[in-house]
Amino acid sequence: MSKIPDATPEIHEQIRPEAVAERVQSVRERIAQACERTGRPLDEITIVAISKTFPMQAIKSGKAAGLDHFGENRARQLRDKAKARPGTVEGGDITWHMVGHLQRNKAKFIARHADWFDALDSPRLAKELDKRAAKNDRVVPCLAQINITGEEQKYGLDPKETHDYLDHCARYDHLAVKGLMALASFVDDPEDVRDEFQRMRDLFETYDATDNPRVEMEELSIGMSNDFEVAIEEGSTMVRLGTSVFGPRDYE
Ligand SMILES: *Cc1c(COP(=O)(O)O)cnc(C)c1O
Repeated sequence: MSKIPDATPEIHEQIRPEAVAERVQSVRERIAQACERTGRPLDEITIVAISKTFPMQAIKSGKAAGLDHFGENRARQLRDKAKARPGTVEGGDITWHMVGHLQRNKAKFIARHADWFDALDSPRLAKELDKRAAKNDRVVPCLAQINITGEEQKYGLDPKETHDYLDHCARYDHLAVKGLMALASFVDDPEDVRDEFQRMRDLFETYDATDNPRVEMEELSIGMSNDFEVAIEEGSTMVRLGTSVFGPRDYE
């Protein structure tokens, strides 16, 4: 049974190609302005369009608007969508990111269907994903997720443990850690999370990967629809945009 949501008439309207293309253009302009303010080259920023809860038409419209990276936060939904439109790991033309917490019993879906896993948050999960990736004869690019706000209900590594965790990842032949990911606090004014992004950048820049062949600190995935400009000013290389690309969602 497919878990891909149906396109209701309202959602269908919201994610039609013209509507998505218009939002993508506006987002690109705002990204360009944030880059300009801080003297950063535009090509350092990748948009990961978060298509969770949306039907396949959203991915089609996003791709038509020039987006290549798409993200889901539930393993089963990623699997079902990647079956409908495979990612590069399965010979397709888009790149699938799993951006949500992964239960170990679903690591097999990710090892098979996801191009990237952006929410590595424990040694046990790394071990399981490594094992599953080996079975699929591949190396999975990953980001370590950091709980930068310290909120109990949020997943992610304790910032203080981040560098030890990256050292620990050196033992996994089938994982390639490419950087860090975090969700900032939910606030009305994005200026209020600038310090959280600065702490992420600090963790990102101070890790010494010289002796660790499995880690290359290339990507800093911070910034969502309500705070991506501040995130870019603070060094983000991947912004994860849901609402600002596809419009409002009913649920998480
Ligand atoms: C839903 C989600 C996003 C996108 O949220 P928006 O506020 O709609 O841009 C980004 N990252 C993660 C991990 C998510 O679950």
